[in-house]
Amino acid sequence: MARVSVMSRTAIAPCSTANLGPGYDVFGLALDALEDTVRITKMLGSGKIVIKNSDRAIPATAESNSAGIVVKRMMSDFQIDDSIEIQITKGVPAGYGIGSSAASAAAAAIAFNALYNLKIDKNKLIEYAAEGEIASAGAKHYDNVSASVLGGFVIGHKRQFIRIEPPRDLFLVVAVPISIQVPKKKTEVARSVLPKEVPLKSVVHNVSGASTIVAGFALKDVEMIARGIDDIIVEPVRKHLIPGYDSVKQNALAAGALAVTISGAGPSMIAFLKSGKKANKVADAMAKGFLEADVKSMTFSCCSSSGSHLA
Ligand code: ADP
Repeated sequence: MARVSVMSRTAIAPCSTANLGPGYDVFGLALDALEDTVRITKMLGSGKIVIKNSDRAIPATAESNSAGIVVKRMMSDFQIDDSIEIQITKGVPAGYGIGSSAASAAAAAIAFNALYNLKIDKNKLIEYAAEGEIASAGAKHYDNVSASVLGGFVIGHKRQFIRIEPPRDLFLVVAVPISIQVPKKKTEVARSVLPKEVPLKSVVHNVSGASTIVAGFALKDVEMIARGIDDIIVEPVRKHLIPGYDSVKQNALAAGALAVTISGAGPSMIAFLKSGKKANKVADAMAKGFLEADVKSMTFSCCSSSGSHLA
């Protein structure tokens, strides 16, 4: 007999960029561009989680899909024993460093919270969504999910998340190198190249950059944000994983971007602009930079997103 769905809620979550150069594992910025939509439906029966997914390349078991992990954990914590269907419509391509697994996880946490009227606060929703990142990174990660849930610019510190509304004249251009075959364990690979120890001098440099970024967001000063985007610890080792990195960066700066860095663990690159006037020129310049390394890319320009919401 066919199952009858009795109730469902849908949430939409944006893509995001993490790190912003020196804010490794700490900063996230929600991007008003691509989104994932997750509908959670309560089914008759008990204890089963079924995942329906618009992108067949993404795992569809509750243990390996970021949305599935979130729902499983929330069901266990709140002793909910219904059968659940998770319908994921992917808008954010997976594996390119623009918070794809995080968007599904954030939308799942928000939709499940609404469906069961659990009244979970945003901080705790971020905790649940971060659990979903085990699917992609093998461990809880907060930078993308906190931005995707809260929107704007987010600083994570000791599992507290501080949101700052970005300046209205902040524009971003993202180049996603879609012809690169991203390794399955990309985040692990990108972490494996990081130095185990860092000279104090480099730490001081990056802390001053990160502080300048925070001040720039707080003071709504795009040029100040851009001045802080200068990472001498992570970026110099990760750039070798991105064919075309140098030409993408140089081209974007020459076309009028104020700063360029790797988006999350890459391989996408993100440029920071004051106003959208030069966005098309910068997007073309970044695409050309990737082409110099025989890499095809998709580009988009956007502002910051206001975060996840119920549909
Ligand atoms: P991104 O920065 O796009 O999140 P990751 O490498 O962190 O990139 O995540 C992509 C990995 O997570 C892929 O291996 C993908 O199969 C896995 N994954 C699991 N669930 C999802 C999901 N719902 N959406 C996207 N990727 C998912």
